[in-house]
Amino acid sequence: MQPLIDNARAFGQRPEEFTGLAAGQSPAVLFITCSDSRVVPALITGARPGELFELRTAGNIVPPYASGTPTGEAATIEYAVEVLGVGDVVVCGHSHCGAVGALVRGDDLSAVPAVRDWLAHAADEPRSSDPADPAVAEAVQNHVLTQLLRLRSYPCVEKRLAEGRLRLHGWYYEVGTGAVREHRPDTDAFEAL
Ligand SMILES: [Zn+2]
Repeated sequence: MQPLIDNARAFGQRPEEFTGLAAGQSPAVLFITCSDSRVVPALITGARPGELFELRTAGNIVPPYASGTPTGEAATIEYAVEVLGVGDVVVCGHSHCGAVGALVRGDDLSAVPAVRDWLAHAADEPRSSDPADPAVAEAVQNHVLTQLLRLRSYPCVEKRLAEGRLRLHGWYYEVGTGAVREHRPDTDAFEAL
C-alpha cells in the first residue's frame, strides 16, 4: 500500500495539469469492464482524465434491466448516456477472468456468497467449447456479446440506438499480451483492432 500512498502524495503536487477538469466532464465513451486489477482502461486506450466514463463490475456484467429496482450499474449507464451523452459504449472482457471462469467451470462459490449470488442473478453461463482453457477466451467473448444484448434492453440505450446516436462495441483484452480484439458484426468474430 505504501508505494501507492507515496505516488498519490506526489500526484497532487501538479495541480496545473488538472485545473481544467474542475469545469466539468464530457467523456465520449462509456467503458464497461471487469474489476480485475490487470485491466487498466486508461493504459489500454491512452485515455486522459475526462475521456473515459467507467463502469467496473465483477465479470464486466451488465445486469438485466429491472425498472423500479435501483442498481449502481443502471444508474451509471443512464447517467453516461442521458446526461453525458456518450456516443460509444465499450464492453471489454478479458482473458483469465475469474468470474467467467467460475461460471464455465461451475466452481463452488459458497465461501463467497455475494459473488455467487451476483453471478447467479446477473450472468448467464457463457457458452464454451473448451471449458479447460485457462484463458476462457471463447467463453469471455460470448459473455461480452451477452452483455451487449443486455445493454440494448436498457431504455436509454435502446432510445439512443434507435436515434442513431450511440454505437456499441465488444472488446476482448488478453492480459498476458496486452492485445485487444474487437467483435466484428460482419464476421461475428473477435478480430484484431
Ligand atoms: Zn474479470
